[in-house]
Amino acid sequence: MSKFWNYLLTRNFADSRLIQVAVEAEKNAIPELQAATEVARINQIRVLEAFRKAGISELHLKDGTGYGYGDLGRQGLEEVYALTFGAEAALVRAQIISGTHAITLALSSLLQPGDELLSVTGTPYDSLATVIGVSGDVRGSFKEQGITYREVSLDREGKPDYQKIAEVLTPKTKVVMIQRSRGYSWRRSLSIKEIEELIKFVKSIFPRVICFVDNCYGEFVEEKEPTHVGADLAAGSLIKNPGGGIAPTGGYLVGKTELITTAADRLFAPGLGNKLGTNLGLGRLFYQGLFLAPQIVGEALKGIIFAAHFFKLLELETSPPPGSPRSDLVQAVKLHTPEAVKAFCRGIQNASPVDSFVVPEPGYFPGYADEIIMAAGTFIEGASLELTADGPLRPPYIVYLQGGLSYAHTVYAVVNAVQELVHAGFIKL
Ligand SMILES: *Cc1c(COP(=O)(O)O)cnc(C)c1O
Repeated sequence: MSKFWNYLLTRNFADSRLIQVAVEAEKNAIPELQAATEVARINQIRVLEAFRKAGISELHLKDGTGYGYGDLGRQGLEEVYALTFGAEAALVRAQIISGTHAITLALSSLLQPGDELLSVTGTPYDSLATVIGVSGDVRGSFKEQGITYREVSLDREGKPDYQKIAEVLTPKTKVVMIQRSRGYSWRRSLSIKEIEELIKFVKSIFPRVICFVDNCYGEFVEEKEPTHVGADLAAGSLIKNPGGGIAPTGGYLVGKTELITTAADRLFAPGLGNKLGTNLGLGRLFYQGLFLAPQIVGEALKGIIFAAHFFKLLELETSPPPGSPRSDLVQAVKLHTPEAVKAFCRGIQNASPVDSFVVPEPGYFPGYADEIIMAAGTFIEGASLELTADGPLRPPYIVYLQGGLSYAHTVYAVVNAVQELVHAGFIKL
């Protein structure tokens, strides 16, 4: 056993038999852990080159005030994002408060009454149901504005259903939405290659359809981003991957210049575009977070790779299973009962650097239909690039383990969470 595992044995937080299982899991995971390190190194250079090409200087790290006309920091940041994502332009702002906001901003700037939105990756992320108007209160939703919505589910293998998509696409379809990550569902995340093929297919039928990608949780997991492979517009949250665990708020859009300008007009006011505004002193953190993001995403990826192997040895059903390709930072595990979900979340929370003494309880969150339980002992509230475990309390009681700034922390926390399942009698060693 390595020094690290021997040290963990001395900490007396978990049964030594469980530590043995963890050691074996890590050994099984070695090829995947190495592959994740390789991707992180490549992406680190991609981001570094973007910084150098944009000529980022110390001056850029200081944000302007007031209207922010010609604010160097804001302009440089958006240039670095555009270069990193292989896009014409970017909108990266503290005024975009979350991933849901970034996606809503993108979609609402693209869609007019009478247009149709088509999701080709099944039901979108929970919080978007209210935005679209498929559930809950329709006030202010796309539905109320006369924007129609249709969706095509992924097929049995979790792949895009090309035949169905071809049937459903019409000249009314203005925007095709692709969700890269699994979100709160047992589906696969879509690889960049699959996203590329899907976009090519849609454009071969209707070249003018706008392909939008919900890129939340996907950034830097592979060597390319959706905008490198034909997406017209993509959006995400800075308290997930691209903020590197450093950005305390914010969201981004990357894509075609015209679409970015339209979205900025929507966020601020028609005619203002992306030429105004300041990040109010957060700019430096946005830059530094982006620079660190490939490395941190690599750590998170390694953590969930370990977790998948560990869960498998314990005969827990996981998605994705060990050895399958990844395109996001989510590891789902099926626990079958609400009590097991609570025990698991307790173990993750208890192994957190912040609020380790807190016991997570289910509750209702704005924008979500079901009760949600959330273990998040994070430095930035709800930041799911940090290690979190959560899930809606509905059968078959799946927990979504996500993020992790430090591989060693994730390993410790996951072993601790499983120990809770052992204590509660859900797992026998
Ligand atoms: C997290 C997430 C969102 C929403 O982001 P918030 O920042 O939580 O609003 C949307 N889509 C996917 C796939 C996500 O993972």
